[in-house]
Amino acid sequence: MSSAGLQEELQLQMALQLLQQAGRELPAHAEPGSVQWLQAVIDALCDLSSRDPLTGLANRRQFEATLAREVDRVARSGEPALVLLADIDLFKQVNDTHGHAAGDLVIKSVAAALQDCVRPMDTVARFGGEEFVIILPNCAPAFGNAVAERIRAQVEHQVVHVAPGIDVRATISIGGAFAPQWVRSSPLIWVERADRQLYRAKSEGRNRVCLEHAAVYQVSAEEKSMLFGNTQPQDSE
Ligand code: GH3
Ligand code: MG
Ligand code: MG
Repeated sequence: MSSAGLQEELQLQMALQLLQQAGRELPAHAEPGSVQWLQAVIDALCDLSSRDPLTGLANRRQFEATLAREVDRVARSGEPALVLLADIDLFKQVNDTHGHAAGDLVIKSVAAALQDCVRPMDTVARFGGEEFVIILPNCAPAFGNAVAERIRAQVEHQVVHVAPGIDVRATISIGGAFAPQWVRSSPLIWVERADRQLYRAKSEGRNRVCLEHAAVYQVSAEEKSMLFGNTQPQDSE
């Protein structure tokens, strides 16, 4: 085997090892080395690279790609879309009291509860440590609060068995913002809006939902300049 061939073989072995460690199975009917089999390896690697290993949710990279697509879609179609940021309340206490492994079980359980609450078209991602983000395309402003409240309540009512005889309950605070319709916003601005509401939910006592009001009127100067093509955004509107 040539050295280039050997290198390719080694890279393939590494990829297969990675998939095996992640518990991914390749289709048994495909002949190893066939085009169909190689495609299955590539698909499995792509899927693996888009997921958070602890929770199986979309990871931050996948979330950012989905959010950028959603920003485009909202600007094109004018359909309302909601982004929710959820953060587990006083999570440090869970780690301090029950240990990091128990904390991990709580994170997994909250992730499963969030995923259970949403529609197939929605994206739930792990944003960071004990923070999650949910993109809800085509979510009318009139329903935003009910949707977020249902998610909050689902987490509040679940019990996590972290060790024999030890149950933990967790709550989350949620901040949310609608994408400004017909306006090309930016993923960053949209998430920052939701984050401001999350901060409000925390400071108002936690285990609650805070959504930005009247999304249409909250267009920032930067977004107005993107909409109207001005280099000098006007702040009187
Ligand atoms: P708040 O209600 O203000 O959000 O309080 P908090 O204690 O949840 O907030 P803070 O952000 O200070 O603490 C988050 C903790 O989450 C700190 C960090 O050690 C822990 N953490 C982050 N990632 C993981 C993880 O993957 N597993 C576990 N077990 N803990 C994690
Ligand atoms: Mg946090
Ligand atoms: Mg927290």
